[in-house]
Amino acid sequence: MAWKPPPRGLCADLFRALPEVSYARGDAVNDAPRSEQIQFADDMQEFTKFPTKTGRRSLSRSISQSSTDSYSSAASYTDSSDDEVSPREKQQTNSKGSSNFCVKNIKQAEFGRREIEIAEQDMSALISLRKRAQGEKPLAGAKIVGCTHITAQTAVLIETLCALGAQCRWSACNIYSTQNEVAAALAEAGVAVFAWKGESEDDFWWCIDRCVNVDGWQANMILDDGGDLTHWVYKKYPNIFKKIRGIVEESVTGVHRLYQLSKAGKLCVPAMNVNDSVTKQKFDNLYCCRESILDGLKRTTDVMFGGKQVVVCGYGEVGKGCCAALKALGAIVYVTEIDPICALQACMDGFRVVKLSEVIRQVDVVITCTGNKNVVTREHLDRMKNSCIVCNMGHSNTEIDVTSLRTPELTWERVRSQVDHVIWPDGKRVVLLAEGRLLNLSCSTVPTFVLSITATTQALALIELYNAPEGRYKQDVYLLPKKMDEYVASLHLPSFDAHLTELTDDQAKYLGLNKNGPFKPNYYRY
Ligand code: NAD
Repeated sequence: MAWKPPPRGLCADLFRALPEVSYARGDAVNDAPRSEQIQFADDMQEFTKFPTKTGRRSLSRSISQSSTDSYSSAASYTDSSDDEVSPREKQQTNSKGSSNFCVKNIKQAEFGRREIEIAEQDMSALISLRKRAQGEKPLAGAKIVGCTHITAQTAVLIETLCALGAQCRWSACNIYSTQNEVAAALAEAGVAVFAWKGESEDDFWWCIDRCVNVDGWQANMILDDGGDLTHWVYKKYPNIFKKIRGIVEESVTGVHRLYQLSKAGKLCVPAMNVNDSVTKQKFDNLYCCRESILDGLKRTTDVMFGGKQVVVCGYGEVGKGCCAALKALGAIVYVTEIDPICALQACMDGFRVVKLSEVIRQVDVVITCTGNKNVVTREHLDRMKNSCIVCNMGHSNTEIDVTSLRTPELTWERVRSQVDHVIWPDGKRVVLLAEGRLLNLSCSTVPTFVLSITATTQALALIELYNAPEGRYKQDVYLLPKKMDEYVASLHLPSFDAHLTELTDDQAKYLGLNKNGPFKPNYYRY
């Protein structure tokens, strides 16, 4: 399906009349000497006060993890135990002789390339951006430093940014989520990537530093997921911000940090909050959970859903997705809610709205999706029936009071990876998944198509900030303009062979709309 720019509006503006430059990729980046172990003890302490992802991982692993914290790289061919030598100790070069990267094993590049090619199949919006870029390079001259999960899907994004004219240096935002073979494939393709699965805390900051602190190369754009990279630059290299045109941030945590900086008057460049764009929210929360809840439960427990009684706590976007999937498989679904509007929605969708205490003795599965804490208490857990499965789809692992289960009278038995049986003195077993952390991100994969939406939004946000005329964005946090949100959606429609209806002039006049959008006011709730 041929890519068509939006008829009028921001993206068309961005792609129009931009100078063409040769495709530089990471090869053009100077080889910087590999520095010794980096110890920033003071800053490290300060960082861990700030709730970083790695901080959460290493300091309080079972206490709280963000939604992006535990992506499983289920498709990974390798794991971190295949070679005990730290990548930092290895001298590796790619087939073109470049050693401007640090990955687990460059020899895995071919496997990684296959993973990237598979991901490309479901990321057609980015591929169409690339095709469009054959003549125009909206990111020509952009030097993007990125810190995200390094998976096949992110690789498609990074290579798209390169195809659009950018030079990229990349590290991982999570010490466990890197697909080693994908990092190797990126390094082989010339991207300066510094990441491997199973980094230590020190490795994590070393990798970020290797991306930022480079002789003869200075970033002018930041793409962050979680805010660690942004914070590092603020603390260590504030001068870099003189050249930075903008920050694009994906995660709830990172966006929260940016708003804090902005509030304190310390944000010195424009930033784009990708997390709260409509397409991202809908796809990440509703559709992603609708697709992955069953996968996570099946992989861990082999449970059959038909006729099972399931209670879903919270009927927001995530709860709605979970309920829809469970209902479709014939489960009997109950909903708990605190908000009468969401409760009424659940009723209208055909679910019984109950208090958890009313059904806790009879249900086979309990799923929390509230973003709240102590939704499932020890009292609830005590009253559950034998073999009841308990899991969480919300942000942190405080929704289920897992801590209350760590008492001497209860026995914990690890029966599978991410599956614990908690055994009461009378022999009753409760099946606890992922120790109460996000089920889908811990125990299943996330659909590539969902990640495509986010990646496309990130790419467009980078293009927008990089090309925006002076004054369009100030030193503040912005949402992606609605028109671009619509554009992200429109780029994904060809995958479904969906045909949009165009407004007639008469209809546009009648509704008071521009024929090319935006089609909804900012306050519209989709
Ligand atoms: P939301 O605000 O739309 O929905 C949460 C719902 O829970 C609300 O309707 C709220 O009224 C209800 N609620 C709050 N406390 C409750 C309680 N004690 N009992 C019953 N209901 C209660 O949020 P959302 O978009 O559905 O996200 C929910 C959580 O899932 C968040 O923590 C979010 O970060 C996380 N999330 C997870 C994924 C994933 O892939 N698993 C994806 C996106 C978001």
